[in-house]
Amino acid sequence: MLWPGLGMDSVGDTLQRLRETFSAGRTRPAEFRATQLEGLGRFLRDNKQLLQEALARDLRKPDFESEVSEFSMAQHEIHLALRNLRAWMKDEKVPRSLGTQLDRAFIRKEPFGLVLIIVPWNYPLNLTLVPLVGALAAGNCVVLKPSEISKNMEQVLAEVLPRYLDQSCFAMVLGGPEETGQLLEHRFDYIFFTGSPRVGRIVMTAAAKHLTPVTLELGGKNPCYVDDNCDPETVANRVAFFRYFNTGQTCVAPDYVLCSPEMQERLLPALQSTIARFFGEDPRSSPNLGRIINDKHFQRLQGLLGCGRVAIGGQSDQSDRYIAPTVLVDVQETEPVMQEEIFGPILPIVNVRSLDEAIDFINRREKPLALYAFSKSSEVVKQVLARTSSGGFCGNDGFMHVSLASLPFGGVGASGMGRYHGKFSFDTFSHHRGCLLRSQGMEKIYSIRYPPYTPRNLRM
Ligand code: NAD
Repeated sequence: MLWPGLGMDSVGDTLQRLRETFSAGRTRPAEFRATQLEGLGRFLRDNKQLLQEALARDLRKPDFESEVSEFSMAQHEIHLALRNLRAWMKDEKVPRSLGTQLDRAFIRKEPFGLVLIIVPWNYPLNLTLVPLVGALAAGNCVVLKPSEISKNMEQVLAEVLPRYLDQSCFAMVLGGPEETGQLLEHRFDYIFFTGSPRVGRIVMTAAAKHLTPVTLELGGKNPCYVDDNCDPETVANRVAFFRYFNTGQTCVAPDYVLCSPEMQERLLPALQSTIARFFGEDPRSSPNLGRIINDKHFQRLQGLLGCGRVAIGGQSDQSDRYIAPTVLVDVQETEPVMQEEIFGPILPIVNVRSLDEAIDFINRREKPLALYAFSKSSEVVKQVLARTSSGGFCGNDGFMHVSLASLPFGGVGASGMGRYHGKFSFDTFSHHRGCLLRSQGMEKIYSIRYPPYTPRNLRM
């Protein structure tokens, strides 16, 4: 296990050091928190090229995609937290009852203490910085565990990020499942995990031993219902953009389309021409399409290409982990591509005969992280929204809802628990302490509540 900048410090010693910082109250003042957030801002600005190169080396992420989904989201969260920090930290007054009219009743947002943040590889900068902004803004000490799979980003984070943060409140652990497992044996005051449902269960089990609260930002299969009352070209543009963005390696990507056979007939040629327009006739040479993160995921995805029938794309090449933007049809619900989260540039279309059948299909499965419904009829979109459940929802587009920091981002059921982004992050990383401050006066009046109880107590 490598502890950048910490030499041979043991895990326990490092956690103890962070705990001492927290107990001393060092991270509580707004000025300290703001300094850390400003440090994160400088980290992004000073190292932009280095970070962009790491994203390109790990995922061959096109610069535009890095810009909108990694840099600008992180930067926006930093600005938002810096602008609102003092307002978010303020005690929140609450209504009082008749018996507490003379008292002060408020919610105090307290930092939890020592927070562990565990990060996946698919948006390795965004999913590091956005939770980190929330945890530091809320006044916590943080241990960060980046993904070992996006190894170029891991290296840049390890070498550069600690220079921009106060070392007394921040530490980083590098490693994979084994090191993370060891880390999870220690007690934390909060664990924020982003990753797969499988590992989410491991994290929650470890947290349960210490009764540590968790946020689990997980994945799943996000349905995309396409009503007959749609313009197929518009739907094709929007679904293809969000399905193939980051080469499909996005937790909120539309995972599969549900539509009628008639809509499928209209959608396929539209998808074909959209894909050709986005990535050219040979997507392999397109600068706008990234690559699969590693051989293991490439082989898993190659296996999924054998499900149903390839209607568009289907080509792959292991030598540079290329998988063409692909559409599958005639897919059975029991096939692997409909059983596991795809997490790659493959879009299966499943036929349903009606809106009711689509809603039944969605509700028979685990609650997804995101759900999409396309229709020119707002009634249809509203029905899908009203009769299903998911972490988030977007009508007539892909994961645009995630770009709004004013909306909570998180899963429900098997797609996770808890929420963050913007003020939701600050609240997630804060304990909401219910406080009532009374005086020692009025004892005569209050004494009517004490024993020995008489009918007078009941009239209180
Ligand atoms: P993962 O669960 O394999 O790994 C996530 C983190 O957990 C990594 O840091 C990894 O080192 C660690 N880890 C892996 N195995 C472990 C183990 N046995 N014990 C302890 N720690 C372990 O996920 P991933 O492959 O990095 O990312 C893909 C998954 O993450 C997908 O399911 C995707 O949907 C999900 N995801 C969710 C969101 C969200 O915001 N909800 C965002 C991105 C990705």
